[in-house]
Amino acid sequence: MPPGRWLVPVAAGGKPAPALGPFGGSVAFAAASTEAGPARRRVVVLGATGSIGVSCLDVIAHLGDRLQAVGLSAHSSGDALLEQARRCQPRWITLTDPEAARRCDRAALDGCELLVGADGIQKMVTHPDVDVVVTAIVGAAGLHGTWAALEAGKTVAVANKETLVMAGPLVMDLAQRQGGRLLPVDSEHSAVFQALASGRASEVARVVLTGSGGPFRGKTTAQLANVTVDEALRHPTWRMGPKITVDSATLMNKALEIIEARWLFGLPAEKIEVIIHPESVIHSFVEFTDGSVLAQLSPPDMRLPIQYALTWPERVSGPTRRLDWRELSCWRFEQPDRETFPALDLGHEVARRGGTCGAVLNAANEAAVGRFLNGSLRFLDIARVCRAVLDQHNYSARPTLSELTAVDAWARQEADRWTH
Ligand code: NDP
Ligand code: MG
Repeated sequence: MPPGRWLVPVAAGGKPAPALGPFGGSVAFAAASTEAGPARRRVVVLGATGSIGVSCLDVIAHLGDRLQAVGLSAHSSGDALLEQARRCQPRWITLTDPEAARRCDRAALDGCELLVGADGIQKMVTHPDVDVVVTAIVGAAGLHGTWAALEAGKTVAVANKETLVMAGPLVMDLAQRQGGRLLPVDSEHSAVFQALASGRASEVARVVLTGSGGPFRGKTTAQLANVTVDEALRHPTWRMGPKITVDSATLMNKALEIIEARWLFGLPAEKIEVIIHPESVIHSFVEFTDGSVLAQLSPPDMRLPIQYALTWPERVSGPTRRLDWRELSCWRFEQPDRETFPALDLGHEVARRGGTCGAVLNAANEAAVGRFLNGSLRFLDIARVCRAVLDQHNYSARPTLSELTAVDAWARQEADRWTH
């Protein structure tokens, strides 16, 4: 990646793609600007019924003069999706679960088209009238939509970190080849993205990702032996879907974020560190070679990084609360407890090794978290399963997408068989 140009599309042959207005990859958007101001960006939200999806629709509702939801997807929450469609009036909605689509009350569609399954996602994210795709599906199921959008050269606001964990090098390469663009939604990566604008790639000494420490910060391994699902789902600062909330409790979320940063920013694993910051106000730091440290701060609210990805490179007033400097007294920082939370080290190891490791770790973790949530695995076994499956796997340094899909299926099977 050329110095100082992050996540910017590069055309085939390694030459930077021509600038096409604020959204480099979106000719349609640039061409649609008028004297009255920029045309509204047409947004598809994959995973609209989840925590990120709902926040995203709130941002779009607040910025109705700039943004318009034209497509929404959910897996099986048909009623919730129809209710969102009633409010946002999109052109399409997609239910990826065919059974849910069959049950859907078509009389309530009110002019919007109901699409089904992977074909529906494909149609929405590749349509020429779409400017931005927000990928907020949870887990490896998000890969298909992200891939299809990038193949069509779209700008992707990426919340679905699992896609980058699983197939980071292939995804980044696809974005470059097709002139697409990835903009981070994850709060830490949005902070890093914003701080990186202050220097060149060659001037970055290290990136420090902050983490709240989750609900079990300060606990010992012995105290975590019998934690319940309810306890793991009680996150101190963020309200999120169940999978990422459990990931935050094991610190696997931070491990996945190390890998996400590795590929998104092209940073070597050694330059990515983690610090615990329980207040979740400082969303990450970038330290440059001269010793200057830049950070991005705001109250913990995902609507801000979502908004930044949707309005980038502009900043506008939106729905989020501002920091009240009179209320702030102290911010704490702690080193992560790597012994109690061994998942964290898996993140560094996988970011360093690359190849098939990301797909294996991601799939083993998804399967293990699923088992923890349904009561068939203990909390501490989540990281153990991931370590065991990673150690057993047949490593390959440059896997294709179909090899990664096969490795993903294998790792899930192994994790499902695991008994300590
Ligand atoms: P949720 O569990 O709240 O929502 C998941 C969404 O994905 C729902 O719309 C769900 O539809 C849909 N979905 C679930 N399974 C499938 C499937 N097999 N195929 C298609 N769609 C599916 O998750 P979050 O919003 O918390 O997280 C979404 C992504 O964003 C994750 O990758 C997470 O890591 C990332 N992220 C989340 C943050 C947060 O604050 N929540 C912060 C940073 C990143 P349905 O309702 O029908 O089940
Ligand atoms: Mg995060």
